[in-house]
Amino acid sequence: MKKLVVANWKMNPQTIEEANNIFSGIKRTAQKITGVETVICPPFLYISAFKLKDSLVKLGAQDAFWVNPLAGKGPYTGEISPDMLKMAGVKYVIIGHSERRENFGETNEMVNKKVKAALESGLKVILCVGEKERDHEHAYLRFIKTELEEGLRGIKKTNFKNLVIAYEPIWAIGKKGAEADSPESVLQMSIYIRRVLQPIVGKELTHDLPIIYGGSAEPVNAEAFLKEGKVQGFLVGHASLKPEQFNEILKIANES
Ligand code: PEP
Repeated sequence: MKKLVVANWKMNPQTIEEANNIFSGIKRTAQKITGVETVICPPFLYISAFKLKDSLVKLGAQDAFWVNPLAGKGPYTGEISPDMLKMAGVKYVIIGHSERRENFGETNEMVNKKVKAALESGLKVILCVGEKERDHEHAYLRFIKTELEEGLRGIKKTNFKNLVIAYEPIWAIGKKGAEADSPESVLQMSIYIRRVLQPIVGKELTHDLPIIYGGSAEPVNAEAFLKEGKVQGFLVGHASLKPEQFNEILKIANES
C-alpha cells in the first residue's frame, strides 16, 4: 500500500505568490515519487489556483461543512460544502483537527456530521483524533475512544474504504521534531485505535485502514515513525511549508 503524506498548511502562507512557490517546490519532487500519495491542503482560497489534473499530487481541504445543499439553497454564510470542494478538484478533506475543535468549538457530533457529508460526496476523509495530555490514569485512551466512536457514528460500512485516521497528540503539535511523540507510543496507539474500530468498521476494513501520525513530524523523526511506529504516513504541519523539509519526508516515506 502507498504511504500517505498530507501537508496541512493551516492559515498559511499569507500570499498566493508564496503559496505558488511552496506548491511548485513540493510538486517537483512529489511528481517523481511513486510510493507515496502526496496531498496538499492549502487554505480554501488557494485551492483553485493549483492545477493538479493527472498529477501524482492530490489536493485536500482543511475542513468542509456538514451540508451539501440542493441547488440555490445554501444559507450557511462562510461555509464551503463537500460537493463544492469535489468540483474544485479536491480529493481529501481533513475533519476534526484539534485547532478546529479548540478554536471553533467543534464537537464530536459536528465532526460526525462533517465526516458523513464528506464521505457521501465521495471525498476521502482524514479524521483527526488525539489527546490534550497523557494522564497516569489513562483517561486519554477513553477520550480517543469517544472521539472515534462519536465521530464515526452511523457511517455506512461501504464508506470506510475512504477513511483515514490521523493520530495527532495535541501536546506534540507545533513543536520541534525531538518533542514529537515516540514511535513506540504511536505504535501502541495505532493498535488501540484499531481495537476500538474493529466492532464499528469490521475486521477486514480495520486491518486495511490507514493510520497516519501528526505532531511535529519532521525529516529527523520520519523514518523511525514509519519503521518502528509502523504508521502509514504523516499529517505534516509546519514542515509542510518548507519544501526542502517536506520533500525529505516524502523521500523517506518512499524508501521506508
Ligand atoms: C497539525 O497541526 O496537523 C500538525 C501536524 O502540525 P505540526 O506538524 O506543526 O505539529
